[in-house]
Amino acid sequence: MYTYYISVGSNMGDKKGHIHSAFQSLQEHEAVSKVISSKLIETEPWGYTEQDTFVNGMWFCVSTLDPHQMLDLIQFLEKEAGRERLIHWGPRTLDLDIILAYDSHGAMLSLSDAKLVVPHPLFWERTFVLEPLYELFPTFTYKGMTINERLAQLSE
Ligand code: ATP
Ligand code: CA
Ligand code: CA
Repeated sequence: MYTYYISVGSNMGDKKGHIHSAFQSLQEHEAVSKVISSKLIETEPWGYTEQDTFVNGMWFCVSTLDPHQMLDLIQFLEKEAGRERLIHWGPRTLDLDIILAYDSHGAMLSLSDAKLVVPHPLFWERTFVLEPLYELFPTFTYKGMTINERLAQLSE
């Protein structure tokens, strides 16, 4: 059994609709036993700023799928939402990233290969990821800092 924190984002079409449909598909998946969503927030684009605002949130989920199988599943959900990869960090109907993964003993997994890097390499730099993560996991600490301290630092 694994647990995951998955960040969700959309800035094209029916943004909340894409996110809600994917949430439902994940919830109905036979290998997924629990999914909890943070509130959805509206955020400014990051990296490539000439695009519409995003709706962002975070999902917590429990699953028997290992991290690579979970990556396959979230990429399938992105495809279902009509995602096309055109511009790096550009407009997208749905973006799902694995932010954190834990094994059945509650140990945080660190992995890095050509397809998957966990924890997500940029999550600690991104307010739009940390704000919804804070809602679901307020006691999270990383690199000797609480998530709250990091959010305060990023807003300086
Ligand atoms: P960023 O990862 O900086 O948020 P992005 O989400 O726009 O950028 P994508 O085009 O969605 O990037 O993904 C590119 C590739 O990143 C995916 O095909 C996937 O193999 C890889 N990847 C590596 N680590 C992760 C992860 N933790 N979660 C999701 N995808 C990942
Ligand atoms: Ca992303
Ligand atoms: Ca992505």
